Amino acid sequence: MEVRELTIDQVRSLLERGEVSAVEICQAHLESIDQRNSEIKAFIHSDASRALEQAARIDQTKRQGEPLPVLAGVPLAIKDNISIEGQRCTCGSKILENYTAMYDATAISKLRAAGAVFVGKANMDEFAMGSSTENSAFFQTRNPHATGYVPGGSSGGSAAAVAGQMAVAALGSDTGGSIRQPASFCGVVGLKPTYGRVSRYGLVAFGSSLDQIGPLTRTVKDAARVLGVIAGSDMHDATSVAAAVPDYVAGINASVKGIRIGLPKQYFKAGIATEVNQKVQAGLKLLERLGCELVEVELPHTEYAIACYYVVAMAEASSNLARFDGVRYGLRVHGEGTLTGMYRETRDAGFGNEVKRRIILGTFVLSSGYYDAYYLKAQKVRTLIKQDFEKALAKVDVIASPTSPTPPFRLGEKSSDPLAMYLSDIFTITANLAGIPGISVPCGKTAEGLPVGLQLLGKHFDEATLLRVGHAFETEGGFTL
Ligand code: GLN
Repeated sequence: MEVRELTIDQVRSLLERGEVSAVEICQAHLESIDQRNSEIKAFIHSDASRALEQAARIDQTKRQGEPLPVLAGVPLAIKDNISIEGQRCTCGSKILENYTAMYDATAISKLRAAGAVFVGKANMDEFAMGSSTENSAFFQTRNPHATGYVPGGSSGGSAAAVAGQMAVAALGSDTGGSIRQPASFCGVVGLKPTYGRVSRYGLVAFGSSLDQIGPLTRTVKDAARVLGVIAGSDMHDATSVAAAVPDYVAGINASVKGIRIGLPKQYFKAGIATEVNQKVQAGLKLLERLGCELVEVELPHTEYAIACYYVVAMAEASSNLARFDGVRYGLRVHGEGTLTGMYRETRDAGFGNEVKRRIILGTFVLSSGYYDAYYLKAQKVRTLIKQDFEKALAKVDVIASPTSPTPPFRLGEKSSDPLAMYLSDIFTITANLAGIPGISVPCGKTAEGLPVGLQLLGKHFDEATLLRVGHAFETEGGFTL
């Protein structure tokens, strides 16, 4: 068994049997980063000595005969907008290039307590704005399946780290698809939890009413394991919800017979690439063979989703990013010596084009005179989209669709056309607007060998059903269709 292809369960059984040590597993991944990162560029930085220290502590626990925590020795890549105390947290931006996080995000302290090992901080679109990781201020990440193609985004580094065998699993963040779409492009599993399921404390905010942290993994069961650790309410995040966290792994093998799967009429119209459609149709047939019932459902406000998302996300971003002004965090450019000059020069030098575009548009839709016409209208449309899902999910248990309408695209193919990039988010952004959970599971590859993903969306706080259906799909060969 190749150490760099392990699942979380395999890491555990190797450690328990004493066949390899946590330090050896960590070293194998650090070597992999040394060998492959120069080509794939999944990581912005990695701290080998801290990772090895974490791993050594696990080996010590084992030597002392104490029980191993649930993610003992599992090497994780962490998206570089999630704070790890004492490590840089750049958000893929020049403005935070030299910013060091002063505390652990709640998801990180939970993973730390569960014995995970942080092997590096993963590349991302600047402030998580993008769908290809080409908006990173530092470098582009390449898709490990075909290096001329994008890994998706904005958690492209996290997805590429797992697909490129540089980490067993990763954390990403999803504001409008940024876990699910890169998972789909890189042939791994990506789960966006229900809004409120995972604490956002320590995640650098982009769209605070949309953002969620979630796992990218090799298997659905691994996603269940990581979610089980990071989920739960947190006094540091008032939007985290005190709903009970089920044992996701224990419920994963239950039969999917009789599960009703909704197929949104508005999603399966023209506009899906032929090969993506073929693979997803084959995936749906497989689910039918497993005893699921396919039912057509309506999501009538789908045509407004992109416009609605980009108004809400840009408005929230313009407000959240106001804090990066040279006073408290990261870069400061003095300008001509005046306070406003310092603000202006710092923000001009620190932010890239996509971030500036969003701050300007977001400020516009929030400004007096335009607020009602754009921001308020978008909030009303958001409610309609949420109601669409409530109605559809009253009839079915989950909703299925392609994760992305196209397979991975070539580096540079869409980077000069922001609208084309925004349009590729059509199937993923609605879950964030509605606050519901979504998972992307691998669903075969195109003739060129590019991964395709099947998306499953569920009811609020019903990640368990998504994991159960995803696991059955995976076990019955859905990943290799
Ligand atoms: N692609 C979307 C955007 O650019 C989603 C980003 C995300 O989920 N962070 O806003």
